[in-house]
Amino acid sequence: MKPWSPDSWRSMPIHQQPTYPDAAALAAVEAQLAKMPPLVFAQEARDLQDQLARACEGEAFLLQGGDCAESFADFSAVSIRDTFKVLLQMAVVLTYSGRKPVIKVARMAGQFAKPRSADTETIDGVTLPAYRGDIVNQLDFTELARVPDPTRMLQAYHQSTATLNLVRAFATGGLADLHKVNQWNLDFAEANPLRERYLQVAERIQDALAFMAVCGVNSDNTPPLHATHLYTSHEALLLNYEQALTRKDSLTGNWYNCSAHMLWIGERTRQLDAAHVEFFRGIHNPIGVKVGPGMQGDELIALIDALNPDNIPGRLTLITRMGANNLAEKLPALARRINTEGRRVVWSSDPMHGNTVKATSGYKTRSFDDILTEINSFFAVLRAEGQEPGGIHLEMTGQHVTECTGGAYQISDSDLANCYRTQCDPRLNGDQVLEMAFCIAERLRV
Ligand code: PEP
Ligand code: MN
Repeated sequence: MKPWSPDSWRSMPIHQQPTYPDAAALAAVEAQLAKMPPLVFAQEARDLQDQLARACEGEAFLLQGGDCAESFADFSAVSIRDTFKVLLQMAVVLTYSGRKPVIKVARMAGQFAKPRSADTETIDGVTLPAYRGDIVNQLDFTELARVPDPTRMLQAYHQSTATLNLVRAFATGGLADLHKVNQWNLDFAEANPLRERYLQVAERIQDALAFMAVCGVNSDNTPPLHATHLYTSHEALLLNYEQALTRKDSLTGNWYNCSAHMLWIGERTRQLDAAHVEFFRGIHNPIGVKVGPGMQGDELIALIDALNPDNIPGRLTLITRMGANNLAEKLPALARRINTEGRRVVWSSDPMHGNTVKATSGYKTRSFDDILTEINSFFAVLRAEGQEPGGIHLEMTGQHVTECTGGAYQISDSDLANCYRTQCDPRLNGDQVLEMAFCIAERLRV
């Protein structure tokens, strides 16, 4: 195999990239980004990998979630706070029911670039280049807005640093206090139409906290009750940006992509002989790969050979996204193959991307029930095959959007127009995603 370098991907075929009109302007931005401070530090990525190694063994559970696409226009402290809060609320429920630590990883502080099903979009007979995420071009349907602009990478970088700065403050500054987080869960359960179903768990957690307090364990003397860790992740799609933030760790001499703690390869860019796999094989962060319904056993093993040749636990997370109707048919053979070959992976379920449908109202949506069906099949299949269901990967927001149908508040097709705000795929809203956490908790409690 040829030697790896941060730019060795450039000699390979590449998919899902913009065509920048001005090569010199692109090179100038890349040079500028390469001088910027990294967003994360290599030791943090190693710590996350150690925790993911525990998820391989069934001793921890990965909770990964956030926007489909972060946006420049919707950037606000309130939306960051709300997504952060709901991730913590979910983690408390999952930790309590699963009796294992929950590793919290946000799709945040870098989740900007989007793969598209077509390179162009046609509306009313007008064809323009597709929107590829705010890091590349603009959503507006005008010729000018759709021209890829490399300076948007700088804006994405600065937005990511500001986001991460706030997340780190929230994580350690008191907002993540377990007592507070469970109070939010009690408030959620009290107000929910399915109150009885959720209140019990929240009350039991409250009792456990009260018991610990009587025993002298409280937020003042027990830092883990007062603070948390929230890691960041995104799809490393736009390799010009990712390469510029890839740095050599002075301690180990290894390369890390310091744009986030964890990165994943999307379903559309995981070709074995192409640029993304090449780039990912050389970075030492924990990484993920999306696994769609078309994945074959030999292909999966070849990908693992390329991405985790030393079979290091925690290095590789397989994120299945097969669809509620396909998973029970397609996953067993893959799980069996991983089992017989003794590959160490974290299995995580993305129950979103295989369940996207067009509503009669015209909106792209996903139903709560389909999402839950895929999650339940994921747990059932892996357990039947002797593998650990190690995590969950959701598109979600803490805001009260109406993008996915169903849930306790029974959002219907005709409600979608009320608050449909996503730049790209439909997200579960704060209430729906917490409900989902309570449902997953029932699966974890075995
Ligand atoms: C995504 O996670 O937003 C995404 C595009 O997923 P996939 O690559 O699985 O389609
Ligand atoms: Mn998406």
